[in-house]
Amino acid sequence: MPVRVRFAPSPTGYLHVGNIRAALINWLFARKQGGVFILRLDDTDAERSKEKYAEAIREDLTWLGLGWDETYQQSQRFALYDAAAEALKKAGRLYPCFETPEELEVKRRMQLARRQPPVYDREALNLSAAGIKKFEAEGRKPHWRFKTRLPATVEFEDLIRGHAHFDLASVSDPVLVREDGSYLYTLPSVVDDLEMNISHVIRGEDHVTNSAVQTQIFGALGGSAPEFAHFPLLQAADKSGLSKRGGSLSIRQLRAEGIEPETLLSLLAHIGTSDAIQPCWDMAPLVDGFDFGKFARATAKFHIGDLKHLNAKIVHGLSYQAAKERLGGKMVGEQEWSVIRPNISSLNEVAAWHHMIKGPIKPVIEDKDFLAVALSAFPEGKLDENSWSSWARAIQGATGKKGRDLFMPLRLALTGMDHGPEMKLLLPLIGAERAKARLQGNSA
Ligand code: GLU
Repeated sequence: MPVRVRFAPSPTGYLHVGNIRAALINWLFARKQGGVFILRLDDTDAERSKEKYAEAIREDLTWLGLGWDETYQQSQRFALYDAAAEALKKAGRLYPCFETPEELEVKRRMQLARRQPPVYDREALNLSAAGIKKFEAEGRKPHWRFKTRLPATVEFEDLIRGHAHFDLASVSDPVLVREDGSYLYTLPSVVDDLEMNISHVIRGEDHVTNSAVQTQIFGALGGSAPEFAHFPLLQAADKSGLSKRGGSLSIRQLRAEGIEPETLLSLLAHIGTSDAIQPCWDMAPLVDGFDFGKFARATAKFHIGDLKHLNAKIVHGLSYQAAKERLGGKMVGEQEWSVIRPNISSLNEVAAWHHMIKGPIKPVIEDKDFLAVALSAFPEGKLDENSWSSWARAIQGATGKKGRDLFMPLRLALTGMDHGPEMKLLLPLIGAERAKARLQGNSA
C-alpha cells in the first residue's frame, strides 16, 4: 500500500513547536518511504478558523522547507461528511440525543458521586419516535452520537507505543454532530482519512483514545483503520505544555527572534528519540535516520535554551551565500561575515556588529594621552591581519603598556565596546580613517 500521510492542523491559531513536530514526523516518514505528504486544513469550525491562519500555516511550512504534495480544506468537503453521517444514521450507528449541557452535567455529577465512570448512559437510545417528536415540537434540536459497539475492545499495533488495547465501555459515545448541524473533528477526520487513502495516521498521544473510537467509525463506514503511530508530546521545561497557541513558542515568534529553520528541524527531528540532538543543515540525514523505533515512550522535555544554543551552532555553520539569502539587503560583505559569524547566535545580531564596525559609534575614551601615542604609531598603508600586532608592538615600545592595559583602551576607543570579535580581524574592516577618528574621540 502506498504511504500517504497527512498533517492536519486547524487554522485557528499560529503553528507552534508541537504542531511542527507533528508535521515534521509525518514529512520525514513520507520522504523516507517515498510516500505522499498531505496538508489538510481541519477548518470545519467556521467561527474559529481564519484564512489568515491558514495562510500562516502554509507560510510557516514553506519557510521550514516542509513542502506538501497535496492539500485539502475540510470546509470544501461538507458533502462527503453529510453523506457519511446519513449512512451512519441509516445503519443505526448515529443517534439523536436531546440532553442539554446542564442535563449532561447533572448526570455526570451523579455518576461521580456514585463512584461510577462519567460515561454517557445512552439514555437517548430509549427514546420512542413519539418522544423524539415531542422534543422537536418543543424546539429542541438533537446532537448526534456515534454508537460504539459494546462490549467492545479495540486493539491495534501502534508503531511507536506497541500493542494498544482499549475497552470502549469506559468512553462515552462520541458526539459527531452538534445541535447546529456542525461537525466535531472526529467524523470529518475519518471520512477524509478514508477518502484520501491515508495509510498511516501519525499524531500525538493525546489522540490515542480518539484513534480507538475512530477505528470503529472507519469500520462503520465500510473501511478499515490506517496504521497508527502516536508519539509522546513535548513538554516545555516550565511544565506549561505546548498546546497553547500563539505564545512565545509560535513558529513566527521564534522566526522573528532569529531562530533558523534548520535549528527547529534539527531539534524537533531528534527530541524524544534515542538520537542525540545535533545540528543538521541538510534534511537528507534526518530522512535517512528516521525510525519510529527510536522514539522514547516518555514525554519529551523542550528547553527554549537548547533551541538558542543549537541556533548558534546552525548560524556558525551557515555559508555566506545562505546567510545572504536570508538577510537580503541587510547582508554584510563576505570578509565581514566571517569575522562576525563566530560572535552571533542569531542572524538578528549581524546588524549590531555591522554598526559597530561601520559606525557611526561613540568611542569610549579612557586615557587621551595613551590614545594620542597610539594614533601617532598608527600603521601606514593598507591594513591587514598583521597590522594589529605590529601596531600593538609599537605602542608597547612607546608606552611600556602591555596585555589588557594596552588592548582594552584601544578596543573601547575603536569599537565603543569591551568585547567582540578579535581586534586583528576588526581593524582592517573598521579601516584607517574611521579608526583614527575614533582614537581621537570623534564619533565615526
Ligand atoms: N486537527 C487535529 C488537531 O490539530 C488533527 C489531529 C489528527 O492528526 O488527526 O489536533
